[in-house]
Amino acid sequence: MNVLLIEDTMTSATVVSHQLARLGLESVHARDGEAGLALFKKHRPDLVLLDVIMPGLDGFEVARRIRQLEEDGEWTPIIFLTARTSDEDLERGIESGGDDYLIKPVSEVVLAAKVRAMQRLAQMRYSLVVLTRRLDEANRELTRLTSVDGLTGIANRRCFDETIVREGQRARRNRLPLSVLMVDVDFFKQYNDGYGHQAGDECLKQIAATLQSLLRRPGDLVARFGGEEFVVVLPETNAVGASRVAEEMRQMVDALALPHESAPQHKFVTVSIGVATAYPSPDDDCGGVEQLLSSADQALYAAKAEGRNRVVVAQTLARASAL
Ligand code: GH3
Ligand code: MG
Ligand code: MG
Ligand code: MG
Repeated sequence: MNVLLIEDTMTSATVVSHQLARLGLESVHARDGEAGLALFKKHRPDLVLLDVIMPGLDGFEVARRIRQLEEDGEWTPIIFLTARTSDEDLERGIESGGDDYLIKPVSEVVLAAKVRAMQRLAQMRYSLVVLTRRLDEANRELTRLTSVDGLTGIANRRCFDETIVREGQRARRNRLPLSVLMVDVDFFKQYNDGYGHQAGDECLKQIAATLQSLLRRPGDLVARFGGEEFVVVLPETNAVGASRVAEEMRQMVDALALPHESAPQHKFVTVSIGVATAYPSPDDDCGGVEQLLSSADQALYAAKAEGRNRVVVAQTLARASAL
């Protein structure tokens, strides 16, 4: 424990310094308030012994300034040294940020006892700080986990639900286009049947990573929508841009060349993608995000019907005038 002693009377300072040394405590000494504050900044002591009556800044003012110097959650015990013991003094001392009093001349036994009490408080407080920090970390991790899909490591459905609502509002407010891609793995039931569920899981992980790798803007999001279906949110992206991203995703999955022997046509794993774009304005939200998702879903359905491994763009919401 490092002690900062702020005391203008040399005899008293010498006595207390020796007492601290005998207690095995290191100390630094300042002869007035200003010097004391400078030493406080420099040494960040574990305990401050502070004389009340000093020329210049008095002890109460020094205590107040020390409390201002401390960061959030930081706390250095302050014990006042005083010859005066009126109730008002005691009240003022605590008010200004002090924790306890020692009457001068300081008794070594009382000093030792109070130092120990402050040490105990400091330790308890430190454990609390450590515990709070761990709790914060755990909470952050928990928040992260609630938005991540366990299998693929990309955003989960919950994260998507939150994102699409937020982006829908933003698009309406700022009259910006918002695109959604529905991505579904083709003939995935057969894939599982042929290669096993575990291979199916590995395949989903690779597709998720591939889709994720193709995002360019920080606001873009790929999420697992459920099962072997993924959803992509592209804010501030019109139908042309969105279909370009979709086509790139389709090609990249194809290029993975994951064998799929039981697929009726193509012998590789492929995806079908439905694209929808909304061009909302503050007074016309184009039916909101439900309408947008339903359009993307219909486009996906059309892509499946037209033979799979392809991109279909929904036309209903893409108003050319807004482009
Ligand atoms: P389509 O081309 O029409 O999309 O046919 P499909 O077989 O992909 O579609 P269907 O909806 O009939 O089957 C989806 C399959 O995806 C069924 C299910 O076993 C599989 N699946 C869904 N989630 C998972 C998963 O987490 N892991 C694995 N391995 N398979 C999954
Ligand atoms: Mg004094
Ligand atoms: Mg499928
Ligand atoms: Mg499906």
